[in-house]
Amino acid sequence: MSGVSFDGLPPLKEIIHRHELSARKALGQNFLLDLNLTARIARTAGIVEGDCVIEIGPGPGGLSRAILAGDAARLIAVERDPRCIQALDYLKEAHPRRFEVIAGDATEIEVWTLGDAPRRIVANLPYNVATVLLIGWLRHARAFRSMTLMFQKEVADRLLARPRTKAYGRLSVMCQWLCAISPAFTIPPSAFTPPPKVVSSVVHLVPRDAPLGEASWAAMEKVTAAAFGQRRKMLRASLKAIGLTPHLKALGIEETARAEELDVIDFCALARVYETLAPPSQK
Ligand code: SAM
Repeated sequence: MSGVSFDGLPPLKEIIHRHELSARKALGQNFLLDLNLTARIARTAGIVEGDCVIEIGPGPGGLSRAILAGDAARLIAVERDPRCIQALDYLKEAHPRRFEVIAGDATEIEVWTLGDAPRRIVANLPYNVATVLLIGWLRHARAFRSMTLMFQKEVADRLLARPRTKAYGRLSVMCQWLCAISPAFTIPPSAFTPPPKVVSSVVHLVPRDAPLGEASWAAMEKVTAAAFGQRRKMLRASLKAIGLTPHLKALGIEETARAEELDVIDFCALARVYETLAPPSQK
């Protein structure tokens, strides 16, 4: 295999072949080799001059190339697989001042401290750690101008879900509380090498200047965990253990309602009451 693509770089297939990047399931490796799709993800991110982009899991660098073809001041990629890190040398040589790779596990790296603001995250996430990563970043959402992320569609649906739907849950509440979320597009399994079992979706999240309602992260976590942990139960039962049942009426929430009927503002109100009840050690 040989040849160069339009950007003067070797084709991704050749990089994969040269470095024997057989996909590892444990690392969630489903590579996106279609340059039209990687370009579309990069466009969705809305990167402008001066942005510092952080990519998680660049793999052989398909999406990285699309990002580097645009206006980003820097691209900092975090990759765990030593084979991919080595394979990315070709891209470091092509963009010595704009592209760097950090070797490591993104779940252990304080991504919100990398580079300088304004930061954007753009990633085709490894699905096995995608929600863990997102929750970690949400806690520091204000560090990012945006997050353009590919998830398995089922997870993207949960992020976007409205109350009174099956997909609505903790993830929907915590994300919508802190970010405005828009669906971008879906990608069929056949676009990846190897194809995953599920359809993928790209979602664009923009952290809000202020959360939808005032509340602490810890209290929101506690209240949503209690409510959705037993989502089929009525709130008077599911919120009993954390002492909120007697307060439902005053908040205008039906005791017989279920978690999925509450909107983000209701959860914020419950979290504020919870803060007044719980001793600091239990918050
Ligand atoms: N960005 C490439 C693309 O679109 O073709 C690869 C995406 S692939 C779905 C996920 C990538 O994340 C792989 O390169 C994998 O090695 C890497 N990865 C998996 N777990 C990781 C972790 N905990 N920290 C950093 N990278 C990880």
